[in-house]
Amino acid sequence: MTEPAATTVSSKEPIKASELDPKFKYQLLKMHGSEKILKCFQCGTCTSDCPVARYSDSYRPRTLIHMAQLGLKDRVLKSDTLWLCAACFTCTDRCPQDVEVASVIRVFRNLAVENGCIPQVFKDQTASLLESGYAYKIPELRIKKRESQGLPPLPKGNAENVKKTLKGVKFISNAQKQAGGQPTNAQQ
Ligand code: SF4
Ligand code: SF4
Repeated sequence: MTEPAATTVSSKEPIKASELDPKFKYQLLKMHGSEKILKCFQCGTCTSDCPVARYSDSYRPRTLIHMAQLGLKDRVLKSDTLWLCAACFTCTDRCPQDVEVASVIRVFRNLAVENGCIPQVFKDQTASLLESGYAYKIPELRIKKRESQGLPPLPKGNAENVKKTLKGVKFISNAQKQAGGQPTNAQQ
């Protein structure tokens, strides 16, 4: 699959009728975790209690849910802010309408991945995990600094065990494909 344009559509840009996908909300009603999305009456409790929204000018779970209700599928799935949720479940606990907000965000992310929208940072982390067993490549400079300060060497990452653990996780194979690589045997 070719990766869609990386452009993020701001929720503040005027909405065009051509963007609306009226079937999106019905698709969400059938998915585990987002069955109650239409019960949201936009009270804003999820956003006001969200620890991430407190420190972000753009992350608003209420807005993502509203966009989904309106059928703005592309805006939701291409939103960078989708990936800021820390999955703390505060919103789910406090929603007066029993909307499982954190699970709705998970559903959005899964759909985003299926539609080729994975932020570059997660593709890089995936590549690093599969290559080295570490989520981040440790710069040579840092390794030398450890040595110069008499610290013991870092344990070697076990990429083979990581591959076995992640076997069958669709995110991994999607991230690899979108990064231009072929899925490893562990992901096929
Ligand atoms: S707390 Fe619940 S009802 Fe209120 S905006 Fe969030 S999802 Fe909607
Ligand atoms: S689960 Fe995500 S959206 Fe909900 S309160 Fe926590 S960080 Fe915010």
